[in-house]
Amino acid sequence: AKQAGRNTHRTFQHDWHHQSSAQFELDAQLQGAAARGEFELHYQPLVDARTGTLRSFEALLRWHNPTLGAVSPAQFIPVAETRGLIVPIGEWVLRAACRQLRAWHAAGYTHARVSVNVSALQFALPDFVRSVEATLRTHGVPGHALAVELTESTLIQDLEASNAKLAALHALGVRTALDDFGTGYSSLSYLQRLHVNTLKIDRSFMQAIDGRGGALVRAITHLAHDLDLRVVVEGVETAQQLRTVQALGGDTVQGYHVSRPLPVAQAEAFLRAARPA
Ligand code: C2E
Ligand code: CA
Ligand code: CA
Ligand code: CA
Repeated sequence: AKQAGRNTHRTFQHDWHHQSSAQFELDAQLQGAAARGEFELHYQPLVDARTGTLRSFEALLRWHNPTLGAVSPAQFIPVAETRGLIVPIGEWVLRAACRQLRAWHAAGYTHARVSVNVSALQFALPDFVRSVEATLRTHGVPGHALAVELTESTLIQDLEASNAKLAALHALGVRTALDDFGTGYSSLSYLQRLHVNTLKIDRSFMQAIDGRGGALVRAITHLAHDLDLRVVVEGVETAQQLRTVQALGGDTVQGYHVSRPLPVAQAEAFLRAARPA
């Protein structure tokens, strides 16, 4: 339905007849959600696989709407993308993450780092890097405190333009991660051509970690290290999975076994525990 055409009116009517009223309500409520103060970032720790020490947080968007309640980003991000709302939402996320970083740094948590998810449409904007730079400057946040997470499908749309933007981000000190690695169709061939700092191995590999998943995680980890890339293993849910990842040589882990995404006050417990001496 969403690909029906550029004609908004036709798409609207199409949706009116075919979408559930809940879906229709979601579309309607998403507009202006940021302005109404309904968005919040939660922060999920990424920790050293061996020591458990905090390395950084991933900022994950949460939407609480008076009518709809809590809506998962898996539901509303795709809607935001088709409705042309993802750019202002992405800019809100970047500002909110920088505001939080500024507050944490000012409170003495100078080691606080945050990565944000950036959608293809936002990354494709010609002035994407300039807007990242401006947001960092406005909030007085050093580039090295920020990372952006991008998917393969985002980056391969225009490889040359993507690498130019990645290089410009690196010049600001901003780190880059290839998110959901292993879910694309031709990941390995692009690895040498996409100039990111980090690979995030998709959590689908965790489900089969004791079999093929494990062999793949080991192979990807070794390959990444040979290419001087850091590796984050996503979706670590059990102690057993963590032990396996450790044995396979993973450097950084993220997942419910360590922590769910947390509101600011709870995330700060991780910052306190990791405060440099
Ligand atoms: P993602 O970028 O791959 O983020 C990781 C997702 O996995 C998060 O879901 C997180 O809560 C979940 N997760 C973390 N550890 C575990 C685990 O151990 N087990 C399981 N089953 N899940 C785990 P969340 O927050 O619902 O976000 C879903 C997706 O929505 C994200 O996937 C990302 O693609 C998108 N998203 C979230 N926030 C933003 C945002 O600010 N901007 C954009 N563009 N996309 C976002
Ligand atoms: Ca991500
Ligand atoms: Ca991911
Ligand atoms: Ca994802």
